[in-house]
Amino acid sequence: MIPSVLPTYNRAPLTFVKGEGSWLIEESGRRYLDLGAGIAVNALGHAHPALVSALTEQANAVWHLSNLYNIPQQQALADKLVEVTFADTVFFTNSGTESCELAVKMARKYWYEAGSPEKVEIIGFEGAFHGRSSAGIAAAGAEKMTKGFGPLLPGFVHIPWADLEAVKAAITDQTAAVIVEPLQGEGGIRPLPHGFLKELRALCDEAGILLILDEVQCGVGRTGRLFAHEWEGVTPDIMMVAKGIGGGFPLGAVLATESAASGMTAGTHGSTYGGNPLACSVGCAVMDIVSEPAFLDDVNRKAGLLRQKLEGLVAEHPEIFEEVRGAGLMLGLKCKVANGQVVTAGYDAAVILVPAADNVVRLLPPLTITDDEISEALTRLETAAASLMQTELV
Ligand SMILES: *Cc1c(COP(=O)(O)O)cnc(C)c1O
Repeated sequence: MIPSVLPTYNRAPLTFVKGEGSWLIEESGRRYLDLGAGIAVNALGHAHPALVSALTEQANAVWHLSNLYNIPQQQALADKLVEVTFADTVFFTNSGTESCELAVKMARKYWYEAGSPEKVEIIGFEGAFHGRSSAGIAAAGAEKMTKGFGPLLPGFVHIPWADLEAVKAAITDQTAAVIVEPLQGEGGIRPLPHGFLKELRALCDEAGILLILDEVQCGVGRTGRLFAHEWEGVTPDIMMVAKGIGGGFPLGAVLATESAASGMTAGTHGSTYGGNPLACSVGCAVMDIVSEPAFLDDVNRKAGLLRQKLEGLVAEHPEIFEEVRGAGLMLGLKCKVANGQVVTAGYDAAVILVPAADNVVRLLPPLTITDDEISEALTRLETAAASLMQTELV
């Protein structure tokens, strides 16, 4: 008999009933150190006082209004994002894949209004993840997401990861945009090589096509800059955001330049819940904290500490781990044993890791993780690795 919850997820047998900072507490009372943060969502950890008060204050004022009316919290969050990023304008969604939907619509509408309605094709990369909507799975293209869900939304081309020559070869008169994650998350914490984004930006400018960055996972301070593309000194035309920006409350956004967004006039797009007062109040509180240079400096310092310790772990357990990769507090351990085994050994040692493609386990701790918690994380990862060594030996 089918379970009452549609069985689309492989769940671990863990039931957490409370979160405190970097910790999740199970029904049994056991405390787990959370290096997953709800897949890079709980950017400020669990129950951060500033977020709890932003949410409860707004909950006592008004929950939902509709975009038929002004929403001051939405206006404030948009102003803040425009102030601290490349963007001139922002649309709010409730998730990453909704941000993908709009990014695709916006790019196509741009060309339609520019008098080139034939420009509809979007070039994406192998290993990408853009969410589970029809546009999201078509943009990513991997068979494990698309199989059985045809006919797929047309107009997407897929090329090998980080291959600039392949981008060049794929650009045609029908190309509207390129979409890429500066640092792939689901794909296995695969960073673009340094310098790639700059060359890609130049290529897009030369060909006169739009650059869409998917910073749903790597944005909002995760890599130690507010957005990952800032490391490369380039800006996109359109950027997808979600996950961390809501700190655990569902919130996403599409940020764009005035030019890229020029086709999106009144009535061309909308959302019932997008930009609601609750989500935007929390989003403002997240952005106020994460956009502070001192906060990001501390993320970078802690990222250095964690990375150094992980390099040590890999060196000590070459039978289990191959390498550390990623940036900031978005790190991956490429495994030699099955990554699922490492995640399970982590649960046994009360430390939470998240699997990714390419046999990687992800470490995406709250950006607020403390130095002591980083040390504790390593102690627990050591325990997990040691137990895996035992299993390997028998
Ligand atoms: C999680 C993710 C998405 C999809 O976000 P949802 O909120 O699950 O729809 C899109 N792109 C990237 C890079 C992601 O990590």
